[in-house]
Amino acid sequence: MIMQLAINGTEIAVCLGCGLPRLEVEGFYALQNERCGRCRLIGGEELIECSACEEKVFEEEAYVEALFMTPWDDEEKETGFTYCLSCVDHGADNPDGEVFYCDGCSRYIADGDGRMCYYRILNDCEQVCLNCIEEDLKRGGIAAIGDDNKLEEVFAGKSMFGMFFNVGELEAEGWTPDPLYHDVCIGEGRDAVKLGARAHGWYKGGRLVIIRYESMNIMGGEGYVTLYTKEA
Ligand SMILES: [Zn+2]
Ligand SMILES: [Zn+2]
Ligand SMILES: [Zn+2]
Repeated sequence: MIMQLAINGTEIAVCLGCGLPRLEVEGFYALQNERCGRCRLIGGEELIECSACEEKVFEEEAYVEALFMTPWDDEEKETGFTYCLSCVDHGADNPDGEVFYCDGCSRYIADGDGRMCYYRILNDCEQVCLNCIEEDLKRGGIAAIGDDNKLEEVFAGKSMFGMFFNVGELEAEGWTPDPLYHDVCIGEGRDAVKLGARAHGWYKGGRLVIIRYESMNIMGGEGYVTLYTKEA
């Protein structure tokens, strides 16, 4: 804050940042210019420190990180980290890729809990959260996830693209287990090929198909699955 002579010869205070006159009220300068950083600081506005570069910025230049901790959460939670917008632009807010953006529900979500990854990659690059995948599968079968390669891989027995669905929910929504492929062991490539061909048969006949995981070790390529189908 500096003083300047006004036209009438009296001294008035002006802001060194914006040059606009200030009125002294009870030892404090009133009339802060909200576009002027210096005015705002004098007015007592606090700066926020960027968790990455430690630069201090005003509130509107900071991103208070908030995430959906799982794909099934209804609300975001603040992580306690704040980043300046330039760090956000450079990806410094997500150095280890611990967060992903779901193309299906347009949300930033933590990428997993250490044991489970919360997304699948579709069409080679889209990260889609498990909640969106589950909704798509239940709505329209494997064809509904929008990745034809995945559909073909399942039919060819090269992939068991499925989930740990809740049986009660599936059956309430009209899905029925294929009696020949109910809780079957998939380990040998041959079994997967047979299941894939069976799924393809149902699909060609106009039914929707999904695969339900019955045991945890299916994630390692071996385990028990059930083929479910539903009228399209
Ligand atoms: Zn100013
Ligand atoms: Zn920063
Ligand atoms: Zn999603």
